[in-house]
Amino acid sequence: MSGYVYDFGDGNKDLKDLLGGKGANLAEMTRMGLPVPPGFIISTEACRAYLRSGAMPAGLLSEVEEHLQALEAGLGKRFGDQKDPLLLSVRSGAAFSMPGMMETILDIGLNDRSVTGLAQQSGDERFAWDSYRRLIQMFGRTVFDIPAEAFGSEPGDEPRDLVETYKKVFETQTGQVFPQAPHEQLFLAIGAVFRSWNAERAVLYRRRERIPQDLGTAVNVMAMVFGNRGDDSGTGVAFTRDPATGRRGSYGDYLRNAQGEDVVAGIRNTMSLGELADVDSVSYAQLLSIMERLEQRYRDLCDIEFTIEHGKLWMLQTRVGKRTPAAAFVIAAQLVEEGAITLDEALRRVTGEQLAQLMFPSFDESAAPEPLTTGVPASPGAAVGALVFDSAAAAAADGPVILVRRETNPDDLPGMIAAQGVLTARGGKTSHAAVVARGMGKTCVCGAEEIRIGPDSFTVGDRTVRAGEVISIDGANGRVYPGPVPVHASEVVRYFEGEASAYGDPLLSAIERLMTHADHVARLGVHANADTGADAARARRFGATGVGLCRTEHMFLGDRRVLVERLILAGTEAERDDALAALLPLQRADFEQLLTAMDGLPVTIRLIDPPLHEFLPPLAELTARVARAEALGEDAGHAGVLLNAVRRMHESNPMLGLRGVRLGLVIPGLFAMQVRAVAQAAAARVAAGGDPRPEIMVPLVGTVQELEIVRAEAESVLASVPGAPPIRIGTMIEVPRAALTAGQIAAAADFFSFGTNDLTQMTWGFSRDDVEGAFFGRYLELGVFASSPFETLDRDGVGELVRIAVERGRAARPGLTAGVCGEHGGDPASVRFFHDAGLDYVSCSPFRVPVARLEAGRAAVAAGTTGSDSR
Ligand code: PEP
Ligand code: MG
Repeated sequence: MSGYVYDFGDGNKDLKDLLGGKGANLAEMTRMGLPVPPGFIISTEACRAYLRSGAMPAGLLSEVEEHLQALEAGLGKRFGDQKDPLLLSVRSGAAFSMPGMMETILDIGLNDRSVTGLAQQSGDERFAWDSYRRLIQMFGRTVFDIPAEAFGSEPGDEPRDLVETYKKVFETQTGQVFPQAPHEQLFLAIGAVFRSWNAERAVLYRRRERIPQDLGTAVNVMAMVFGNRGDDSGTGVAFTRDPATGRRGSYGDYLRNAQGEDVVAGIRNTMSLGELADVDSVSYAQLLSIMERLEQRYRDLCDIEFTIEHGKLWMLQTRVGKRTPAAAFVIAAQLVEEGAITLDEALRRVTGEQLAQLMFPSFDESAAPEPLTTGVPASPGAAVGALVFDSAAAAAADGPVILVRRETNPDDLPGMIAAQGVLTARGGKTSHAAVVARGMGKTCVCGAEEIRIGPDSFTVGDRTVRAGEVISIDGANGRVYPGPVPVHASEVVRYFEGEASAYGDPLLSAIERLMTHADHVARLGVHANADTGADAARARRFGATGVGLCRTEHMFLGDRRVLVERLILAGTEAERDDALAALLPLQRADFEQLLTAMDGLPVTIRLIDPPLHEFLPPLAELTARVARAEALGEDAGHAGVLLNAVRRMHESNPMLGLRGVRLGLVIPGLFAMQVRAVAQAAAARVAAGGDPRPEIMVPLVGTVQELEIVRAEAESVLASVPGAPPIRIGTMIEVPRAALTAGQIAAAADFFSFGTNDLTQMTWGFSRDDVEGAFFGRYLELGVFASSPFETLDRDGVGELVRIAVERGRAARPGLTAGVCGEHGGDPASVRFFHDAGLDYVSCSPFRVPVARLEAGRAAVAAGTTGSDSR
């Protein structure tokens, strides 16, 4: 193959990069001998060349011309002919599916003369003029950016009159007459599809979905077939399994006497696929057998767009279909059961993100009021928020909002991104709102037809709900409630908690099967960040195989704060020792609980990290208290003492100040007390017959000398506690200097744990407490990065430091254990990186543990090291 243009017969489903998803799949269906209208594909390469130069690449139009002639010859019709015109559709199709992002133009080739040819040839004048009307409208909108409202239509208007009106609209808006030459229409349409790659909403969608901005789109040119030629014609969409639940069986909607965009726009109510059997049993049976063949070919759920023209079935599109997170798990497990795919492949087909969505809460039905109304449950979840009626208001809102629209279109995308959930009055499960919301994992109820939408309120019967009032929408059953409805934990969470059985439940058993395989193939362990026995126990139920980070400072809060105050204010060694002695038994008891909950598994206990003044009241509060006392002529007493201490300890950049290991070196006895508490707790557990495996971790180390001093002291304390098991001493790597000097540091560390929160903060110079609220929104908008580096690890910068530290650390100390305990440990995209970087485990919040387990398995599969990818 050479050049820019490919016949449908030339490609196959694996050529998505070149032919786009739609084109590659049309080619595949053509190869399978399915009834696809003939056509050709202009490659993404041509689009890239066009976008680079701003002009059609040399030779493209003559190539199009050649393929068009072949099409004409095959069909025995001429493009735009006066008597019996061949008409074309032009559709975009990038390598990744981008619903609603790009453009479609139908009926290209109609003009003032060929419209009468079409009328005569079809014997249906109304149909011919209606097609011409559609062309002017779609062409005007897509190629010349004429606003949709400009083509306001009166329902009773004769299509022929509408054509006249639309042509005038076209002239007024563009200053030129509607192009009559079919080839000019075609070439302009192709250019418009190319340009639509860079439409604002397309750029936004790609940024959000992390699709590269420079791929370009292919253009599919296809002979028109018509679903709007009477009651023996129609158009529909179908799924080979239920995209909401994953249940086996064919699902879909069919609209008689209509064209494709009528179904997607939800203009009229559709009939179910099953009902098609009653009106056209032959096409129905043919469709079902095609669907079965497509499933076998793609080994996955396929979605399909089809048209029936005078009883003849045509396939217009297929692709591996989008699905809800629940359906993704159910279908993957079913396909394994059916022998269609391996368990490894099943893991490739689900994501940690999807599992996280399934762990979202749902409404507490028993506390829900009478629903206002019920619509179509289009994308599951429970969303509560204040009503907004347009995309701009949703994007500008502070708190959670529900976006309510009659129906959505691609311009609503920013609002849909910002909203908790989307509610529409029209359209079904395949409407734009439904498809896009499902793709985003956002709650959506659509087709709530009882609601009447005004500019800033909606009415159901005699109830009016205004903008700003709170409603709750349930994407699982379509119910719309007034006010906030309480939410409760997901079934999936109850399953992980051991409160719900997977037996007989398709979703839970699918999750069980895939999680078991993930655990089986994973190389990365999954530990939890847990500070209490209760958290550790929960993490263990969720499958954690250790505690990767216990932040001991969390044990100094509440009523223990006064003890820390005493330590800070201690004027003499004796006072300080007293304060530490009071803290020791409390710490010991905490550690015992933790070690009990994680008996037999490692528990990494980190010595105190934050600056001590965080345990004192804020400066402003103390200043006010002292000022009040002074104004009353009283002695400020304790507040005065505290104020002095806070002033003394004030730091301009506390995150870069006296914290972590620095505190341990400056405040004598503090770390020793903690180490003693760990050793005593472990000894007590051993005495009780337990198997405690504590480890001690030193935070914020920047140089090996710091660690050596702390280590020497800790070792002597450990040696002094009778009955304590051996306890490893390691360090966090969270200062860039520590990563760079990891070779030296490893000499004094039994293990490394990357604190990627601080490492990100210090590598970028981003204050982790300030920047996300301050300017990350703008950075994301500008595409400086696709997601916050505090959420998803910055592979190129911070990640490089991780790689360097692992390499240098292990070179100095072979077999050195390395893990991560920053927030990134539970982020699906980052888990993959940590696997590839050769870490031994990730540690994350208990709730994220199942997500990290799944991703750890997926990372092993992606790396191709599982050795289990056989059927
Ligand atoms: C880190 O910095 O990544 C870390 C785990 O420590 P903390 O968040 O407590 O600073
Ligand atoms: Mg840290």
